[in-house]
Amino acid sequence: MSNEEKFELKLLGTGTSTGVPTISCDCITCTSTDPRDKRLRCSALITFNNKNIIIDTGPDFRQQFLKYDIKKLNAILYTHHHFDHIGGFDDIRGINFTSRDTLPIYLNTETLKNLSRIFSYAFQDYGETGKGIPMVDVNIISDGTIEIEGIEITILPLVHGSLEVLGFRIGDIAYCTDTNSIPQSTLDLMKDLDVLILDGLRPMKHNTHFNIEEAIDQAKIINAKRTYLTHIAHQIKHSEIEKSLPSGIKLAYDGITFSGKFNGKN
Ligand SMILES: [Zn+2]
Ligand SMILES: [Zn+2]
Ligand SMILES: [Zn+2]
Repeated sequence: MSNEEKFELKLLGTGTSTGVPTISCDCITCTSTDPRDKRLRCSALITFNNKNIIIDTGPDFRQQFLKYDIKKLNAILYTHHHFDHIGGFDDIRGINFTSRDTLPIYLNTETLKNLSRIFSYAFQDYGETGKGIPMVDVNIISDGTIEIEGIEITILPLVHGSLEVLGFRIGDIAYCTDTNSIPQSTLDLMKDLDVLILDGLRPMKHNTHFNIEEAIDQAKIINAKRTYLTHIAHQIKHSEIEKSLPSGIKLAYDGITFSGKFNGKN
């Protein structure tokens, strides 16, 4: 039996790897007072049935939990291992302290290899016991669909330079950051979307991210009802760039929240 249930997806951060403002920069975006020009590192929170699943734990993870008053976490999905997506990993200890339990993480083998290298103390036996280190249950994913706490998530393999990274589709919302190429087999999984969140780094070309022009071209192919660009660099001042985008395509900003539906298993 299945029945339609609601979820929300909130973007906790929409900035590129440096965050915006970028330290030591006084460009028009970094000095802007527009709150949409203040971008923490990319992350998204999926909320349903009083459960929280986060996509990525970047360096701003702790600040994002405080800012949005998020108290609990049921699982983490990782897109890839670049530091702007994993840098806050140590701070999941706060979740461990409160839940008195390990936290399930879902990631591909490349992400695990690098996460366990960078945060080796959490993955090797140093004879440490108790709650001094992040405590996780590792679940390896690469494609297909997974179910976490009763919600089905479709894995969207993406290309990010020479790296395979993961996007995720929940109901009719897809989250695809850090990519400059989407394989046809993944495009086939992205039909009939209401909302697409897509990498759109900056106007100039980049060898591991879609620039604005490429993101627009890709968005038109995917043809979601609404597309929001994320992983945004300081070369983009929200108010100026957004008015140049075609209808149906906008810039995301920190805190924007989308509602979706999924087929519950209850
Ligand atoms: Zn990134
Ligand atoms: Zn700047
Ligand atoms: Zn990356």
